[in-house]
Amino acid sequence: MSNIKNIIRKNIKNLIPYQSARKINNSGKIFLNANEIPINKSIDIYHKNLNRYPNPQPNDIIKKYSEYSNINTSSILVTRGADEGIELLIKIFCNPYVDQIMTFPPTYPMYGINADILGIKNVIIPFLKNWKLDIKKIMLNAKNTKIIYLCRPNNPTGHLINKKDIIYLLKKFIHTGIIVIDEAYIEFCIEESLAYLIDSYPNLVILRTLSKAFGLAGIRCGFILANIDIITFLQKSITPYPIPTPVIDIVNFFLTIPQIQKMNFLVQELNQRCIWLSNELKKNTLVKYVFPTKGNYLLVEFFFIKKVFNFLSKKGIIIRAQTDKIRLENCIRISIGSKNDCLKLLQELHVIRSLIL
Ligand SMILES: *Cc1c(COP(=O)(O)O)cnc(C)c1O
Repeated sequence: MSNIKNIIRKNIKNLIPYQSARKINNSGKIFLNANEIPINKSIDIYHKNLNRYPNPQPNDIIKKYSEYSNINTSSILVTRGADEGIELLIKIFCNPYVDQIMTFPPTYPMYGINADILGIKNVIIPFLKNWKLDIKKIMLNAKNTKIIYLCRPNNPTGHLINKKDIIYLLKKFIHTGIIVIDEAYIEFCIEESLAYLIDSYPNLVILRTLSKAFGLAGIRCGFILANIDIITFLQKSITPYPIPTPVIDIVNFFLTIPQIQKMNFLVQELNQRCIWLSNELKKNTLVKYVFPTKGNYLLVEFFFIKKVFNFLSKKGIIIRAQTDKIRLENCIRISIGSKNDCLKLLQELHVIRSLIL
């Protein structure tokens, strides 16, 4: 018996790790569980200079992302996915066992998990009934709060947190804490982005990724957009070479104008399919409620949730149960797949309805 258990930090011993989609369920035919886009992305690049370390913050990528996002190059940091951004921010702002972050479930779990790993208290304030922030409770718990993590559009509910509430918080916390807006899905409703506010609020941070609308989850690349002071401190703390040379080459290709146009076109197509799928799902009497969404996924409340989930799994259709999330006990999150994936899903839901009802 090894004694590692006695050496390891207590909060790591007690940690409930993130259940990534790829970890939970890797066998199936139709994957609608990780909000990936249903287009196979591939590229053939000749890489050179692989004996050399890459540029820690590749200028060409930053310049291209700056043109794409309309954000100054000095306000952009490239990261190993948005997930690295979430972790880095806690590392540079929060003192272990003193400071706290705030999170608003049901939401993306990685904010809280990173806090658990780093010994930072996670103050959990569930959304109100109308999916608005509980501003009163936030202000009552404001002491020692260094980071407020807002996911917008929120994963998994698909709703947009009220902009007025965010501006209220930006002002209230201007001298004491930062407001992080995770815009992982913002391309699906780009007109709603709040990135332009970083010039007005030095405590605003925006997280972006190439994993979702850009369809590049496999390369692990994201961005932090913020005031130059925050970017400078992040640069001091980030791992020396976060972006591998092959990833830099791939990103340089996919951030060109024709590729961005392709992405925008696909987003329009997926948004239309999302509305269609939502309407089709509502026709099935096993479906209790389909949440309105701004992302490339639908949160669906079912009658007989367990039977539905198991039946779809057996048929090789992999979706994401939300049964562990507050207020979503009877819900499933479904990513918008190809037209064929969606048709197959509807067809199988039809079959199970006739078996149950
Ligand atoms: C998928 C997702 C991420 C992770 O993005 P990566 O760039 O792949 O690390 C972050 N936030 C939310 C809300 C997500 O859904």
